[in-house]
Order: sequence, then C-alpha cells, then structure tokens
Amino acid sequence: MTDLHRLSIRELSEGLAGAKFSSRELTEHYLKRIEKIDAQVKSYVTVTAEQALAQADAADAAIKAGTASVLTGVPIAHKDIFCTQGIKTTAGSKMLDNFISPYDATVVAKGKAAGLVTLGKVNMDEFAMGSTSENSYYGATANPWNLSHVPGGSSGGSAAAVAADLAPFATGTDTGGSIRQPASFCGLTGLKPTYGRVSRFGMIAYASSLDQGGPMARSAEDCAYLMNVMAGHDAKDSTSVEKNIDNYVANLNGTSVKGLRIGIPKQYFNVAGLDADVKARVEESLKKLEEMGATLVEIDLTMTDAYVPTYYLIAPAEASSNLQRFDGVRYGYRAENPVDLMDLYKRSRSEGFGKEVQQRILIGTYALSAGYYDAYYVKAQKVRRLIQQDFLKAFESVDVIAAPAAPTTAYKIGANLSPVEMYLGDIYTIAVNLAGLPAINAPVGFDKDNLPVGLQLIGNYWSESQLLSVVHQYQQATDWHTKRAAIAEENA
Ligand code: GLN
Repeated sequence: MTDLHRLSIRELSEGLAGAKFSSRELTEHYLKRIEKIDAQVKSYVTVTAEQALAQADAADAAIKAGTASVLTGVPIAHKDIFCTQGIKTTAGSKMLDNFISPYDATVVAKGKAAGLVTLGKVNMDEFAMGSTSENSYYGATANPWNLSHVPGGSSGGSAAAVAADLAPFATGTDTGGSIRQPASFCGLTGLKPTYGRVSRFGMIAYASSLDQGGPMARSAEDCAYLMNVMAGHDAKDSTSVEKNIDNYVANLNGTSVKGLRIGIPKQYFNVAGLDADVKARVEESLKKLEEMGATLVEIDLTMTDAYVPTYYLIAPAEASSNLQRFDGVRYGYRAENPVDLMDLYKRSRSEGFGKEVQQRILIGTYALSAGYYDAYYVKAQKVRRLIQQDFLKAFESVDVIAAPAAPTTAYKIGANLSPVEMYLGDIYTIAVNLAGLPAINAPVGFDKDNLPVGLQLIGNYWSESQLLSVVHQYQQATDWHTKRAAIAEENA
C-alpha cells in the first residue's frame, strides 16, 4: 500500500489486526517518508530506524500470537523532552547534546507497553521555551503548510512531523501552550490535559507546576487513542493524580453538542493583535457549533491583562530553579579546560544554554532573589489564584470556554520578534496552565495565505473526555481536519 500514511489511528489498528499490512511494512513506509521528506521539514532530531524495526517485528509477532492490544504496531514520534532509555534526549539544547537517559519517561514506557513503535525523537524549542521551535540547538523546523514559516513551539517538531505525515501521531508537552499553539499553526488537533492527568516522570522539567504532556494528532479520535495510553496515575510523579481515567475512545460520542453552553470571553475577542482571519475562522467555527445545537454565552474573564506578566514571572522562576542542575559536573555539556570550579560552572552554562534560556534563567533568578521575591514571585502567585478563580466562576454558567489558540497564524522563519511581541502571542494559552485546566485545539480553516487557524476549547478540571467528544462531533460535521499540507501528499 502506498497510502499507509493517510490512515487514521483506528484504521491503522484495524488494518494491523486484520493483517492487511504488517507493522514492519507500516514502519518501513514511515521511515522511507522521513528519509525522503524530512530534509525539508527537519522535524526529527533523531530517527531510531533500527529500534523501530525491531519493535515492529515484535509487534507483528504479538499480533500473530493474539497477544496484541489495540495500538500494537502503530508508529509514534516522541518530543525530544521525554527521556528514552539508550537513545539521545536533547530537549533541543546543546547542554544535552550528549545525554543518553538510563531510563524511559513514564509516557514512553507506557507507549512501549501498549506496543507503539518509536520512529524517533522530534525537535522543540530549547527546554520547551519558545513559540517557534527556532530556539532549538538543532535549527528551525519548517511548517509543512509553508516551508518558510515556523510550525510553532515548543512542540514544533511533533506538529510538523504529524502534519507532513511523517508520524501518525506524536507526544507533546504544554507549559504555556506548546501543544495547542503548534497544533493550531499546523492544522492539527492537540490536547493539553488537566495538570496531574499525565505523568511528568522522565519529562525534562521547564516549569514544574505548569508542565503537562499530551497527544498531538490529526483528529480528536486519534488523540483519544493516545490519551488512553498516556493518562493515569504514576507513583513516580507526586503531582500525578489518583483518579480513574476515562476510556477516551469509548467516550468520543459521550457529550452532546446539543445544549452545550460555550462561553465566549468578551475580553478575548478584543485583544490587540488578534488577526482578522483568525477571528473570522474562529467565529465561523462557533457558528457551526451553534448550528449543531450549542448555545453561545458571553462571559467575563476579567484577569486577561494579567496573563502574560504572571506567566512570564512564574515560568522563568521555576525554570531558573529546575535548570540549576545543568552545571557541567554531573551530566550534560562541560566546558573545556576550566581554570577553576567557578569557571567550569560559568562557561558550561553560558556555552551550553542558548540565548532565550539564559534570558529566562536571569529573569527567574531575579524574581526569586531576596528583596524581590515578595514583590514579584509571591505577587504573581496571588494573581495566579485570581486567574484560576476567574475560570471557576465562568464554569458556573458554561460547560466549555472558546478562544483562538493563538492571535495569529504561523510566523515566518527568522521573523525575529522581540521577546515581548513573542510573549504576547501566548495570551490565549498560558492562563489555562496557570489554572491547571485542560484545553484542546482543533483546526477550523485557513487564513488568506493558506495557513491553518485553530479553535481552542477550554474545559473544567478532568473534562478531557468532554473536550475530545465535542471536537470529535465537530469533526464529524466538518472536514478541516482532513486537509493535508502539500508536502504530505508526496509519496515516498
Ligand atoms: N511559548 C510559551 C513559552 O515560551 C509556552 C511554551 C511551552 O508551553 N512549553 O514559555
């Protein structure tokens, strides 16, 4: 079959179980496409062909023996922030260019246990800090819809790989939008789960109170399959929550759009810098949901102006603390010929970290230092609570909240926005992380340059099933999620 890369996860699962094709054929098909096309997209940092083929053979044996589960033999790409035993894990940083983890992240281990075949590790902004994937030590990844544009970030490699049909789905992480914004820029569906839903064990930390892993795929249905693998309590992550997980696939039709109350925050649609095409596409998608039976309710989210300053204090503060461990002594990059210990620390960190990461470490260290701690960090934590309360109040009268995922479509590679311009682009995603809520992006059309636009739906705590279900039904009634970038049409 030449079009294996067109199949959905359900079709792949059924095809493998029905012996229409083997996992080896499927894996070879994807590896060939990566070899042919990824020189243009540059989504993979590491391709693990040999291991993938061995996993595929084991999957085929399990399918023959009748011991396979639903995803046995299906390929996946992992964001290079998830530790993989025996395979390089870089987090997009020179600091970890030589790092081989002695263990698997829980998400990776669960994927292996489910029979998934790892194609490789995909590119990202260094330590997940950024919105373009240009902050990677390994260079920029291209947006499959237009190769001179970015795929978004920080999970840009995950988004680009799926949008170019170089993986059927991928893992991502979202600290302030890094699943939803690249999904939006690349025309994909991406789910940021409730904080605590997916284990952070073995996921290299950026801002621990905000970080959360989740699925990126073409449709809500595909995401649901991956959520079934990723979600669940993990004793190795003390913030992962002991709570029954849903069967996200079985629940895809579990929420009726009829009668669904969708909150429209009036502050969100008057943000300066909201692109007219983005606004129009999002409004059209809401109209469609209204036709399907939802009610649109105007709501107030009064703390909107506080999102960016609050996030850009808390996230760098936690980052500065988390990234202390990269000191050139234990692991990671070490400067050559240090004259003394201080020189070793200083040069390892200034040579090993890129500019954006250094900037955030400096901001975070400042905000946490004696004399400024109360004025900045403690104050930001108080505002964080108010932002959470704002959402909880809104959820008293609505079921989900709608927003764009980002104010614009994908930037041009090399656009070189100032940090403040870049940070303002996170306005629609970061509050969700500050509150710990789940949210999903769904593709809802294109701008005048044929770049994808995304609709974000924010849910109350633990409402992943509901979000997936609403988007699934929207996707049954529309075909935006079936559109493919030109490069994805190419056959290997
Ligand atoms: N763009 C945001 C940042 O740079 C979010 C990144 C993320 O979610 N990892 O921090």
